Order: sequence, then structure tokens, then C-alpha cells
Amino acid sequence: MSDVLFTNVRVFDGGGEAPFTGDVLVQGNRIARVVKTGYGARQAPVHGAQVIDGAGAFLMPGMVEAHTHFSWNDQPSLDAIQRMPPEEHILWCAEVAKKYLDMGWTSCVGAAAAKPRLDVVIRNAIADGTIVGPRYLAASQEITVPGGLGDTTQPHLPQPEFAFGAVVSGAEEMRRCVRMFAKYGVDSVKINLSGESITGMPSEMSQFTAEEVRVCVEEAKAWGKRVAAHARSTWAIKECVKQGIEVIYHASFTDTEALDMLEAHKTEHFIAPGLAWLINTCHNASQWGLTKEVTTKMGYHRELDAAVESMRALRKRGVRILPGGDYGFAWTPHGTNAKDLEYFVKYVGMSTMEARLSATAWGGPMMKMGKTIGYIREGCFADILLIDGDPLADITVLQDRAQIMAVMKDGEFHRAPPMRASRATTRWAA
Ligand SMILES: [Zn+2]
Repeated sequence: MSDVLFTNVRVFDGGGEAPFTGDVLVQGNRIARVVKTGYGARQAPVHGAQVIDGAGAFLMPGMVEAHTHFSWNDQPSLDAIQRMPPEEHILWCAEVAKKYLDMGWTSCVGAAAAKPRLDVVIRNAIADGTIVGPRYLAASQEITVPGGLGDTTQPHLPQPEFAFGAVVSGAEEMRRCVRMFAKYGVDSVKINLSGESITGMPSEMSQFTAEEVRVCVEEAKAWGKRVAAHARSTWAIKECVKQGIEVIYHASFTDTEALDMLEAHKTEHFIAPGLAWLINTCHNASQWGLTKEVTTKMGYHRELDAAVESMRALRKRGVRILPGGDYGFAWTPHGTNAKDLEYFVKYVGMSTMEARLSATAWGGPMMKMGKTIGYIREGCFADILLIDGDPLADITVLQDRAQIMAVMKDGEFHRAPPMRASRATTRWAA
């Protein structure tokens, strides 16, 4: 790969400062130099580097999606996702992985797969260059209880192949299940601690005993795996803190004690509320039978109010809130994930700066990569987006593929900027 010098770009470096005009040099897979215009003068082009005149385009770090389900297939039910045959399913996952990168998500954290090995196979294929996709951490299936969220088996078809999740009962079955996923090579184990109203078990209901949860965490940690939990109920949220479950998905129903616990342990947890699911289930799913009347009866409007209130409180307390969550349903299709940032501004009260930092500054630790990604700084991996527009003024530009003019991952263009030739350099076609 040749070195790349971006000139005349507005640099958002991921540190929370206002963007500045400058140049960014990428050598190999790292950011080698970041220079503000007027400080240290214009740098001479580096010999052999491809020079891209950004013409004032906005340059920012690639984004990190914290709750990704490549294997959800934009269908309206868990059953419809699970019933896809494995051969088609893996091809679907590969296609979706590319779509995330197209939309500027240069890293994604798997939050559960619909079949045991889909995530692991996709992660490995991305890593060895077989397919195109973001940096990826692979998840297990959702671990659940008989009759719980993710048990889609029928009484006359009890085979595990018919289950969306991995169904266990009792500490020893839990231990065996976690060991199986460790054997398959997952990065994280997903456990469903609460219900999910659309499946029939209300979100405020909890499943598993504290002992089963303890064994899950103990066994996962013994194998060096992270634990992530579907936790909508108050009990489930508190259990995550008590048992050291690092990644908390949803966290809708908090009480003062839960908020206090999360605040006291805020450096140990990541929260991805997945507001898109709640918002769109409430307001944009009537063509799939989820009318306002139906979703009100299910309790989703009440849950949306509770989740918004919880996120506002957690934001004030400095708890890390990240974008991502259950994209891949019919009414939350893959590729629309940057809506989460708009929701953070509209519903949670974040500034556009905070919303963007939630997708970059928190992304590195979420990917277990510290500060090596999420910043436009010397020494960081070159995961870079060029945006036509200013996400600080209008956060929705990140939802528009056309405005994401270029995507670079690990120093290589996944999508190169459209350019026209000029004498000294190349320039934006526009
Ligand atoms: Zn999910």
C-alpha cells in the first residue's frame, strides 16, 4: 500500500477539541503525522505518497458500533432470522459486514449470532482478508433459559437447531455452554438476563438465577472471554454490576440504586442502550403489525420513556454510553446505525460532539484496543473517514452514504475518495 497525505482537511481528532484545518499523513497502517495549517508551515509532499487535496472536507476517526448482529437478516421476527439456512446465512453476514464498513463503521463489537459459529467465522474471514469488513469481535449465541428470550423451539421440535439462542438450565449446563463457545473461539459470551416484550417475556422480567449468572461469568473469565448481557430489567442491570459483566445492553429500567451502582463502577462498564430498537418498534413498525396499540400493550412506549430517562441520568453521571443496538430487524435495517447518534442528541441530550465521541473515544476500549483507534493522532491505526459536511453542525450527515466520501481502515482505502486529476495533486471531483 502506498502512503497517503491528506491536505486541506478539517481534522476532528477525537479528543473533543474543535476541528482544525490541517494535513494528515498515513504511512503503512498508521497515522504518521498530523499538522495544523499555519503551525510548522505546509509540509512538503512525502516522496511516493498519494496526495489527496481534501478541499476542506471533514476528516474524522472511523466509528465503532458497540452492539452488532451481522446475522440478523432484516426480518420481522427471531424465528425468521433463525430459520435462514447456514449456507445463505454466512453469505448474508459477509454482505452485512461490508455494508458496515461502507457506512463508516471501521470497528464492530458482535453482540450475539443467530447460529453458534457465524460470528467467529466472519471475524476470521475479515482478519485473513477472505472477505471485506470492519475490525470485529465475535460473540456467542444468546444464552437463555427454557421459555426465555431466544428459546424459539416448539414443544414438538425441541432440537437446539431450532433455537435462536443457546438454551440452558442450571449451573452445570451453563458451564458446559460457555466452554463450548470458548472452544469455538468467541471473543465474548452473551447472556440474556432479562426478557424482551416482543417475545412474550416482558422486559422487566428476569431470567436465570444469580448462581447461573455467577457460573457464566466465572467460566467466561477463566477462558479470557468478555461477558455481555441483555439487561433491560432493574435486577438484570444490578446483576451486571454485582457480577462484573462488562458490557450492558439496554439498561432501560434503572432505579436510584442501579444508577448509583453504575456510577460507582463506571470505568468497568460500557452501556449500549439500543434506543433505535425501542424508538422504531414504537413508531415505525406498524406495517409489520406492530401498531401503536400493540406496542403500547407490549409495554414498549413505557420502556422507551424509562430508557430515555435512564440514559439522561447515566450521561449526567459520566457513565460511558455507546451507539449500536439491534440493527438488523425489518424496521431497523443494517446500515442505518448512525441514527443512534441522532437519537443520542435528540433523546438523551448529548451535544453533537458528545455523540461523536461516543462512537470514537469510547470505541477503542470497547474494542479492547485502548487509544490506538478512535483518534486522528500520530501512532494510531489509520481508521479514517472523509465527510462531505459537518457532523458537528448536523449529526445526520453520518447516515448518508454519499456524504461519507471515503473510508480507510488500517491504512487502506475501503472506499477511496472520488477524485479528478490536477497538475500538482488530485482533488475532489466536486
Ligand atoms: Zn441485541
